[in-house]
Amino acid sequence: MDPKEIDISEFWCWNEKCPDYGKKGQGNIVPKEQYGKDNTWLLECKTCGHCFSENKGTVFFQLKTPRKEVLRTLALFPEKGSIRGISRATGHDKNVIMNWLDVAGEHCKEVNEFFLHDLELDKVQVDEIWSYIKKRKRRDS
Ligand SMILES: [Zn+2]
Repeated sequence: MDPKEIDISEFWCWNEKCPDYGKKGQGNIVPKEQYGKDNTWLLECKTCGHCFSENKGTVFFQLKTPRKEVLRTLALFPEKGSIRGISRATGHDKNVIMNWLDVAGEHCKEVNEFFLHDLELDKVQVDEIWSYIKKRKRRDS
């Protein structure tokens, strides 16, 4: 079987204790093997030996919008302050944004990593985004 194409440069080591944790394009991530019926790649960090599935961050694959666009949209929260404001700024439907918020809320830890390493935000910025996401959650319930 043909190996499935995979863009290694988009992955980073998820082991927080690894010296290359969260860094992209360091050459430390290598494809190890494929498994399962979808030929999912198991990736390995050469620095620390940590293995993880390419589906890490799978939360985004079910969405129709590219991961970075979803992240960028959510990251507008502190600036725009409301779903309506973000909708106007980005052109994304309010219901779509609400769905992303729910998804992000359910997968905080993973999404947090993507904010930090995909969008290259710092911790303070990310904390601000979460405080908005959580505030909204409380209002709903
Ligand atoms: Zn590592």
